Amino acid sequence: MTAPHVSFEFFPPQNLEASFRLWDTVQSLSPLNPRFVSVTYGAGGTTRDLTRDAVATLHKSSGLNVAAHLTCVNATRKETLKIADGFAASGVREIVALRGDPPKGTNQFTAHPDGFADSVELIEALSRTGQFTIRVGAYPEKHPEATSFDADVAWLKRKIDAGATEAITQFFFEADTFLRFRDACAKVGINAPIIPGILPIENWQGAARFARRCGTKVPGWLNDAFVKAVRDDREDLLATAVCTELCSDLIDEGVDSLHFYTMNRPELTRDVCHALGVVPDVRLQNVA
Ligand code: FAD
Repeated sequence: MTAPHVSFEFFPPQNLEASFRLWDTVQSLSPLNPRFVSVTYGAGGTTRDLTRDAVATLHKSSGLNVAAHLTCVNATRKETLKIADGFAASGVREIVALRGDPPKGTNQFTAHPDGFADSVELIEALSRTGQFTIRVGAYPEKHPEATSFDADVAWLKRKIDAGATEAITQFFFEADTFLRFRDACAKVGINAPIIPGILPIENWQGAARFARRCGTKVPGWLNDAFVKAVRDDREDLLATAVCTELCSDLIDEGVDSLHFYTMNRPELTRDVCHALGVVPDVRLQNVA
């Protein structure tokens, strides 16, 4: 098995303790030589400034390729593009461009009257600036708001045609889910790489809740296994085994890049990467 390329997602820290945790995570994962690391943008644009600061600091101090997430929620076009300009000014030239989730308390996306109506409009505008490599989100089990699986795949094609060069998927629990989606994308002529988003399961209850919110199917066998593992205090062992197996099944099917949702905790991601043959590059071990 050839070791895959990896990338890591972080969220911006909200306080000093969380900043230290993020920094520890970055230091722990940097030697794995990620293709890029990305920083999320809080639902409803709530972490706008925190994302900007985290992205700029990571770019300056870590030596890693940093991608900033950016959504259209709650902002005019002008404001959104100003944030993108700010990323560029701090040297960050990679963006994960998203429509974004509605703010807490609502479950329907409503575009700002002067804002981008959807992700395609945002991607087109970012693409016109010529400043960014643009990645987008993709949904192997269809986005909860999509009218059908096929309509969702067609929408992804529009996002790629608008100027995105790569898609990162929502997390899923079985390799077949991704492979079916990859086939459907190829069938409609999507040639851009589709990178599986991998969620190492730090906490089963939390992961299952998150999955329900995202429309990710929780297989019965996985739930049963975690219920037993939690009872026997072996949750970590199971989480490492399950995640490693999912990744190696994907690699066996030709996947060469994986994107890990780290939740700012390095241990599981690092252990899975090691098991997949992604080992520290000694030249990168003393980053910052
Ligand atoms: P889109 O793909 O543009 O739209 C969602 C679905 O709705 C589509 O799949 C499509 O089927 C349908 N749709 C939307 N508009 C149209 C239209 N005009 N015509 C037809 N169909 C349409 N959220 C955050 O708030 N911050 C983040 O940092 C963040 N990071 C993410 C990273 C990744 C890799 C992923 C997969 C998701 C992330 N999200 C984040 C969640 C994301 O914002 C939500 O899933 C949101 O509801 C959809 O955003 P999108 O850009 O993927 O939407």
